[in-house]
Amino acid sequence: MPSAVPDVMTTGAEHTEPAGNEGPFINGFNRKTNGVSTWPTNGHARASSVSSADTSNPAGFETHTFDWNQHYGPGPAHQYHEEEAGGPRSRAYARIRSWGDDPNTAKFPRISKPMELMRTNYDCVVIGSGYGGGVAASRMARAGESVCLLERGKERWPGEYPDSTSDSISQLHYSGEFAPGWLPKKIVNGGDPTGMYHVIFGNCQNAVVCNGLGGTSLMNANVYLEADKDTLRLEAWPKEIRENPDCLDEYYEKAAKVLQPEPYPEDWPKLPKLELLKRQAKYLSMEEKFRRVRQTTRFVNGPNSCGVEMYPSAMTGQDCTGLNDGSKNTTLVTYLADAWNWGADMFCEAEVRYITKAPEPQEGYIVYFAWHGRNRGHFKANLHGDLMWVHAKRAVFLGAGAIGSTEILLRSKNMGLDLSEKVGENMSGNGDMLGFGYNTDVEVNAMGRPFPSPYHPVGPTITGIIDNRSGHENPLDGYVIEEGAMPGALAPFLQAMLEILPGSVEPTNEGLIGKFKANLARLGTAFLGPYYRKGAIERTQVYLIMSHDSNQAYLTLKGDKPVLEFVGVGRSDHVKYLNRVLEKATRAVGGTFVQNPFSALGPQQVTVHPIGGACMARDGTGSTGATNHMGEVFTGSGNKTHSGLIVTDAAVIPTALGANPFATITALAERSVDHYAKNQNLTIDMTPNGVLDLFGAPEHTHAHNKKRGSVVHTDEVEEIAKIDTAKNAIITARRMNDSGFGFTEVMSGYIHRDKGLKRDNVDTYELAARTAKSLSETARFFLSVQSFNIRSIVNDPSHRATLTGTFVCPTLVGSPFMVQRGDFNLFLLDRKAPGTRNLTYDFDMRGINGRRLHFHGYKVVDSSVALSPVHFWKSTSTLYVTITETLPNTERSCSDADECGLLGEIVAKGIMRIQPQDFLSEVMTLTPTGSSIFKKVMSAGNFLTFFTRKSMSLLLAPLTPLQYPVQNCLGFVNNTPPTKTYKIKASDGVVTSLHMWEPTNRDIPAKNLFMIPGASVDHQIYALPTIRYNAVNYFCRAGYRVWVTVHRIGMLMIAQDDWTTFDTRLDFKACLEKIREEFPGPDKEQPEKVYTIAHCMGSVAFSTGLLDGTIPANWIKGITCSQVFMNPIWNIANMIKITALPIPGDRLYKYLLGDWFSFSTSKNDSLLQKGLNELLRLMPDSRKEICNNASCHRTTMALGRCWNHRNLNEATHRQIDRFFGGVSMTLMHLLMKQGYQGGVMGNGPLFERLDTPDNIRRLKGLPILLFVGRDNAVLSPESTEKTYEILTDTFGTGDNQSGVPYRRREVPGYGHLDCWMGRNAWKDVYPFVREEVDRVVRGEEYRFREPEDQFKELVESGKLLY
Ligand SMILES: Cc1cc2nc3c(=O)[nH]c(=O)nc-3n(C[C@H](O)[C@H](O)[C@H](O)COP(=O)(O)OP(=O)(O)OC[C@H]3O[C@@H](n4cnc5c(N)ncnc54)[C@H](O)[C@@H]3O)c2cc1C
Repeated sequence: MPSAVPDVMTTGAEHTEPAGNEGPFINGFNRKTNGVSTWPTNGHARASSVSSADTSNPAGFETHTFDWNQHYGPGPAHQYHEEEAGGPRSRAYARIRSWGDDPNTAKFPRISKPMELMRTNYDCVVIGSGYGGGVAASRMARAGESVCLLERGKERWPGEYPDSTSDSISQLHYSGEFAPGWLPKKIVNGGDPTGMYHVIFGNCQNAVVCNGLGGTSLMNANVYLEADKDTLRLEAWPKEIRENPDCLDEYYEKAAKVLQPEPYPEDWPKLPKLELLKRQAKYLSMEEKFRRVRQTTRFVNGPNSCGVEMYPSAMTGQDCTGLNDGSKNTTLVTYLADAWNWGADMFCEAEVRYITKAPEPQEGYIVYFAWHGRNRGHFKANLHGDLMWVHAKRAVFLGAGAIGSTEILLRSKNMGLDLSEKVGENMSGNGDMLGFGYNTDVEVNAMGRPFPSPYHPVGPTITGIIDNRSGHENPLDGYVIEEGAMPGALAPFLQAMLEILPGSVEPTNEGLIGKFKANLARLGTAFLGPYYRKGAIERTQVYLIMSHDSNQAYLTLKGDKPVLEFVGVGRSDHVKYLNRVLEKATRAVGGTFVQNPFSALGPQQVTVHPIGGACMARDGTGSTGATNHMGEVFTGSGNKTHSGLIVTDAAVIPTALGANPFATITALAERSVDHYAKNQNLTIDMTPNGVLDLFGAPEHTHAHNKKRGSVVHTDEVEEIAKIDTAKNAIITARRMNDSGFGFTEVMSGYIHRDKGLKRDNVDTYELAARTAKSLSETARFFLSVQSFNIRSIVNDPSHRATLTGTFVCPTLVGSPFMVQRGDFNLFLLDRKAPGTRNLTYDFDMRGINGRRLHFHGYKVVDSSVALSPVHFWKSTSTLYVTITETLPNTERSCSDADECGLLGEIVAKGIMRIQPQDFLSEVMTLTPTGSSIFKKVMSAGNFLTFFTRKSMSLLLAPLTPLQYPVQNCLGFVNNTPPTKTYKIKASDGVVTSLHMWEPTNRDIPAKNLFMIPGASVDHQIYALPTIRYNAVNYFCRAGYRVWVTVHRIGMLMIAQDDWTTFDTRLDFKACLEKIREEFPGPDKEQPEKVYTIAHCMGSVAFSTGLLDGTIPANWIKGITCSQVFMNPIWNIANMIKITALPIPGDRLYKYLLGDWFSFSTSKNDSLLQKGLNELLRLMPDSRKEICNNASCHRTTMALGRCWNHRNLNEATHRQIDRFFGGVSMTLMHLLMKQGYQGGVMGNGPLFERLDTPDNIRRLKGLPILLFVGRDNAVLSPESTEKTYEILTDTFGTGDNQSGVPYRRREVPGYGHLDCWMGRNAWKDVYPFVREEVDRVVRGEEYRFREPEDQFKELVESGKLLY
């Protein structure tokens, strides 16, 4: 027997001894990973190289010297490590349960990619993955083109196909117009739209096709039958073919080399159904027309032509529901596996809807598709509304099958693509007829079963044919009859169906005994089941006829749904004639002839071979067909075609073939693709594949655009890098056997296009949304969120998942935008605002015009949701959206991922919301992923626990455990160490600190600026390390030498020594002396006056020094008083604290807990302190100010709430204990007294008021700015108001005449200390203070010019805006 086994010595490949157990054990063969493999075969070891350069590999294409037709006589031809099937095996052999090494990990290969890995553009897009699609994908990938294949169905491998009735029903999809004749017609659509078995109802003719990676090849009967030349010569075919039908030969040969058809081997077990057809051929006098038909079923072990390891047929007869035995050379294991190996990207559950020309300046086409993955089908309105798309730069190959491709073209036409009027016409059911010879006299064994007895196999579905095509005067009279097997999934219904179907023809020549036997057989099946060997079903022959119908069907879109209508099914006389032939064949073997089941519904046929719809024109113009002889789509009725828009599937076939069609479909596809390649100067590399490791990586990585030599743009490089990152994450998750979680979300709203909407606050978003609404600027996204590894969303601090889908906003040119590899963060800690979590959506998106924009959206869940489900829903369903121009990755880098999204020039802003009905759909899409039910349950549990915990911690914030100080420093982003620190000794000997920062702006003459913090704090309130731009930074760059005192009632140990505001004035005097001494200015004798900024109790203390004359007013240039000066008046809440308690609070505390109240606390504090902490949670405040930070509560208790929480950032609030010390009860007592009485005082026991008119006169000539946060909850705004009034009453209004300007200002949205510690104080507070300081210190004329420094860059880049 000729052997295809290469002589390894002559090919130069290294000879290797059998590899023992070294390599991974795959499919029973030991394999070495270096590409050199050895396999034991029938008694003799074979060894050869599987390197792709090895031309001796029989898995070859052009280079393959081995002639199949010559060698494939009876019996199997051995290929590369192939071996014969061997004898009968145990039953379990029939179903391959796992292809992987480790059944716990990768059970089945996956050559399609998750949608998350799709690129925005490819050289070629292939639609569908049957024969037409498979050929295009494989050949274009081999030609070096980047290929994207979109397939509507899912990827399933042998072992995954349904073989039970319930499994099969779950895979059913039906659509079309149900038109039984006696009922009103009805458009129907149901079942799983990506399910394998697709029944298309039509008017008079119905069709069955398959959805899945591999197309209908997954469920066909494998018959490989070339069209006869007489048919190809029919007038309907294009001139190029009808005048030279031999032109298809080379392409049939190409197809055969890949699909490897072989007849059922003579030396395999005899099959009753085959034997019966042979007998029937004799009875019909067509003995010589009977033969075993070539079929793409494998009868040997070993890799197929494309290098995929295959098994010999287990003879299950299950071909038509999908063969689980690994013996079927589907396109999945041939063309598609080959395309995968050559770098094609394939995506499943992608239903292409239509194609348009790509908008200029791009070339090619935009292919729009609905992605059914991630349960997106639950959003019925959006699935086909918000379409995803991919850009085909050069070519689109339509391989969606006759009905699929025609539907796409019809819809494309409706969407504006110029096409021939012939699209949708001239469809045919290929003259298909189905019939049954029910309950014959002999055993037929044609009922498929997943595990047939090896001693009584069913066989492949079709093995024999009566080929009656040749020798007719009219080629249209030709037909073929094939025997078949019914898949086991139909077994439970078959008998009932055959019994009740109308129009059955009983045998006429049966005697009484015959009738009795037949009835016994019927009863046998009824009681003992369809597999009862002597029963009626086991004696039923299945017939399939292919003939010539009238090609008078057409496909139209009704309400955008495809509807198939046949206006003259199969030349009714011819049909009757063929039925008579089948009746005769059945009668001869004592059976009842039953027509196809659809005939019960009226004059209905069912075809498994729909063809036509985008037929090749017979005259080369669009007036007789939709495509030319190469499948190129006409632009109208002339001969002009759309460049690179090519139909490669059954849709191009212009007549019924009278034979099973896939051999011809494949040959025509090979021909069209070959022509395209030649026209484009592409060389299809026919190097054979090695044996494929489908669990590993493809042999060829695609070098994008390399072949074409075009320039690779930076955004492509970025895209590739992002895909690689996503791919690695997915691969790692798979390898680690991780489980994941996903859901899909639709949000809609209004986005206003306006570059001016820079501010990131709720008002701006609301304004933008209102404006957008009035202008009908709608927006919507339809995004799937997927975490491939549950840990990344639950445990990782960024709680990240991937976003994929679309964003539609008609006002933005380029819409709809594709969203790929976006970032979703679930309950991400908001560093901007304390106690706040955000749900963020951050992605680059690409418009159909190639434009890239960046989408940043966030939902804010803060304390305002506490105890309010309504607020919680509002917060979690409201998305604040900013759309910016996309920045290159390098420029987008900033420390806060959330803020990064807001960089870049603003394009639009607005608000999007989840509608309640969309939320319900969203819930339905929640899907855990994992390799087992247990893993899925765990994954769902983890996610839901995380979600509930986080939601509850916000919803029930007041009841959650208190936050105690953290050990390590968080978010210290701006360490601001002083240039120098001085020890200052006051006149009473108390030593305090004075920090000095040199100005950073050397362009402006340096001036001293003295800054006084309040009680219990230190210099950090001005030099705050947790905000990016603090007051010290600000004033230093404004040209000031900043001095900050840490005085005796500040955050120092000595603060515990019962010092008061009054005592503190001594520290200030000492500090001023030091400043005057160190930097006196030009005249040492007359040191320059010093401008002073004083906050809160620092300001009160400073006023006492000025009022009693301790601090000479002529040392001072001017003062900015933050919140208060000489008239402290407590805010109402603090007043209540003082007046409502029977004993003053300070006394009570002193009595119970001591003289010192520390703002800091810890879990290890005394029980009483901890009890106090718990009690403090009950302090009433507005919902948005609720927090559970123990130190924050304590500060509020002692001083009143010191900030509007939203103005601080998380790091400041979380570590507030680091910026606050404590307060002695002595100081507290004085403060309470002063605040109650509304004026500054000296120490007890006299507590003399110092704001007397005489003292006030000391302030004469001092410019004073008073400002207060409008929401101040410590001191009443009245404090500054009163001082202002006193000053103006005493010294005049401060107009130009008096020369003493007093100013007062309220800062909206601010509280107390947030005026200095707020994250946005740099723009809301510092500037007006600086203006005043500049005015007083440098004169009215002076105008500050921003230095070019890091802060300016921070501001301009937008990093500080938010
Ligand atoms: C039960 C049965 C038995 C058969 N037996 C034989 C046989 O023995 N011999 C023979 O020659 N023929 C047989 N056929 C027919 C044969 O399989 C088909 O004619 C052939 O597969 C058609 O190839 P195709 O490339 O045109 O389309 P298909 O193989 O049908 O592939 C089309 C693919 O496109 C996908 N698709 C459809 N619409 C879209 C869309 N909008 N977007 C994305 N993807 C889409 C589908 O999911 C499918 O995967 C049989 C068919 C059936 C149903």
